[in-house]
Amino acid sequence: MTAFWTEPDYDDHEIVHFVRDRVSGLTAIIAVHSTHLGPGAGGTRFWHYADPKDGLRDALRLSRGMSYKNAMAGLPMGGGKAVILADRNRTKTPEMLAAFGRAIDGLGGKYVTAEDVGISEADMVAVARETEFVTGLPTEASDDVGGDPGPFTAMGIFHGIKAAVAHKLRRESLEGVHVAIQGTGSVGGGVARLLARDGAKLTLSDIDEERAAALADQLGADHVASDAIMGVGCDVFSPNALGAILDDEGIARLDCAIVAGGANNQLARAHHGAMLAARDILYAPDYVINAGGIISVAMEYLCRRHGDPCDINEVRKRIAQIPTRLEQIWLESERSGETSDRVADAMAQKLIGR
Ligand code: NAD
Repeated sequence: MTAFWTEPDYDDHEIVHFVRDRVSGLTAIIAVHSTHLGPGAGGTRFWHYADPKDGLRDALRLSRGMSYKNAMAGLPMGGGKAVILADRNRTKTPEMLAAFGRAIDGLGGKYVTAEDVGISEADMVAVARETEFVTGLPTEASDDVGGDPGPFTAMGIFHGIKAAVAHKLRRESLEGVHVAIQGTGSVGGGVARLLARDGAKLTLSDIDEERAAALADQLGADHVASDAIMGVGCDVFSPNALGAILDDEGIARLDCAIVAGGANNQLARAHHGAMLAARDILYAPDYVINAGGIISVAMEYLCRRHGDPCDINEVRKRIAQIPTRLEQIWLESERSGETSDRVADAMAQKLIGR
């Protein structure tokens, strides 16, 4: 038997729970990386993996990422992530979601879930019928805490871009600062709107070209084909679509001073942080700048369960602190000569007692 403990992505995770419910056909993995700061919180991904090992790898990596993200956002939450291994047809039934809810409930609050790729708000409502350890549930009024995390993620990225521009370009205003945005979905579209309001010059792109063009029209921005965006000469490149875009080829094409955007896992490999630094490009570590959504979702949970203040302004206040953390990272990076992604990892590890 090969030992699970020697899996490259196993990082002393506290719980790796393999779930199988024969009646509904549910197969899932719930990974809790750390509960040092609180319950392991992170979304559920519903995905078809050609090889179930890839599902395990995702659960291990993503749950560790959540430990880092939650710690750096100053939340009293640890890191966890669940993966439901879908069949080829992505069959999803109410019985499967109910069985999944019971599996979460069985962990007694060590894992708290929310939406991720392939899981909707309605799915979360179904899971919530079986367990109270769920967040990201629909809200009734627009100023209720919770709901779609996209706009909150966008808000944090907007603050982060402002901080990066002040740090690197010594400009206090975004007026005329050129930002190239990859992906104009929930997050990228929100970032574009906020930047446009502050007078930034925008170039947008999306593989859905009509989507990018429509938003560009609305905001008076330019748009380019999706394969051209990484080579646009600009001040800030803001990736808000796919992960792993910062690879050898992608970094070589960049013509910007700053990379700051919401996509998860932007660096293809660990050494790509050093490649950005070698090109004198300031990098905002993804899990620090994109924490606005988890801040909203976590505060929704804390207020529902523990009666913490349910004040949307408190959520906004916390999101506005993202730049403080980024500034700490950049200053430490300059002091130590270590890249910003490594500095962030080290800070996060310290916060979770590793
Ligand atoms: P979304 O599905 O709403 O939008 C993604 C957009 O990217 C779509 O319009 C899609 O057409 C486009 N796209 C896909 N591939 C592309 C490519 N190669 N080039 C250009 N555009 C491309 O998703 P979202 O919620 O906006 O999330 C965007 C990214 O941010 C993802 O990496 C996600 O993991 C990350 N993220 C999202 C949140 C959140 O709160 N939604 C929080 C943290 C991180």
